[in-house]
Amino acid sequence: MNTSPKCAACGGSNLELGKLRGADRTAFIPKRSRSKWRCFRVKIIATSCADCGAIALSADPDKLKEVIGEGQ
Ligand SMILES: [Zn+2]
Repeated sequence: MNTSPKCAACGGSNLELGKLRGADRTAFIPKRSRSKWRCFRVKIIATSCADCGAIALSADPDKLKEVIGEGQ
């Protein structure tokens, strides 16, 4: 994914990377996983638009592919 990220709310590109305070251990657990016996956690990345304030959450795509067994 090499396209520059854009705000889903206003289309602006003035995005700031960060995390949600108090939610540092929050993770995305994909239902589909390579392992039936191990619970894989994918770190959540938060970005906020400096133009409109919208916050978007996303999972690390490389880690997600690793967990579900794709892209290797
Ligand atoms: Zn925005």
